[in-house]
Amino acid sequence: MKRFELERAISENELILHYQPMVEVPSRRLTGVEALVRWRHPERGLVSPLEFIPEAEATGLIRRLTFWVLREALLQSNVWRRDGAAIPVAVNLSVDNLHDAHFRRFMELTLKVAGGPELLIMEVSSRALARDPDPPIPILDLMRDQGIRVTLDDATDEDAHLVEKLRLDIVKVSRALVSRMGRDHRALQYVRAVVDAARERGIAATAVGVEDEATWAQLAEIGFSSAQGYLIAAPMPPSQLSEWRAARV
Ligand code: C2E
Ligand code: MG
Repeated sequence: MKRFELERAISENELILHYQPMVEVPSRRLTGVEALVRWRHPERGLVSPLEFIPEAEATGLIRRLTFWVLREALLQSNVWRRDGAAIPVAVNLSVDNLHDAHFRRFMELTLKVAGGPELLIMEVSSRALARDPDPPIPILDLMRDQGIRVTLDDATDEDAHLVEKLRLDIVKVSRALVSRMGRDHRALQYVRAVVDAARERGIAATAVGVEDEATWAQLAEIGFSSAQGYLIAAPMPPSQLSEWRAARV
């Protein structure tokens, strides 16, 4: 993946967002959606973020990419709001964004134009935060002070120290653990450890990667308050989300 191609993708609107529903446990009521970026590549078709986010981080393009995602997600959220549905949107941030002096200003400007800190959730990967010698705590606190919810993403039992140290609203438990917990007792123990650490501090726990009813049936007892995964719905374009919602009521 070449830098100039990725630059072109951002400038020429080749990026798109898909949205994956997050639902309450056990009611399955929609609580929000996660915005997940894809690249509509002219030759390669739809390219996964796993293939270009690392490149965007390595080249510094992650600033523009995140700015685009944040703006697009907030605009979409406004469209839904105008249609009478207040749907919170979660956006994935790179830890580099949190160290970027321009990020705060961009976030504040975007909120001024597109509005709605109460409908915005920022997800930050626990992997990146754990590796960070100087975790960007002030900006995370600032977001919360502005009414934005903060999620620790991809969390495992090893992240208890982050759950203690950071002011968080949500802890999302890693799909690698959630998808194994039905058949792997160890994985289940790790899931319990991180969910318990979160709940002790009044932080909500979300399960990612719930693919079957057997896993779903375990969630409430473990202490999850919400979940996302293919069992409920895969990420989808915004137009399809409206149909998905309409089909459920
Ligand atoms: P993530 O934030 O942990 O997002 C969840 C990923 O798990 C998504 O993959 C989603 O499609 C997938 N997933 C959800 N439920 C299931 C399931 O039941 N089964 C399976 N097999 N997969 C499931 P996706 O969209 O490929 O995104 C991968 C990662 O790329 C994300 O992981 C996130 O770390 C990163 N990413 C996506 N969009 C952005 C973005 O706008 N900015 C940044 N910085 N990172 C992004
Ligand atoms: Mg995420």
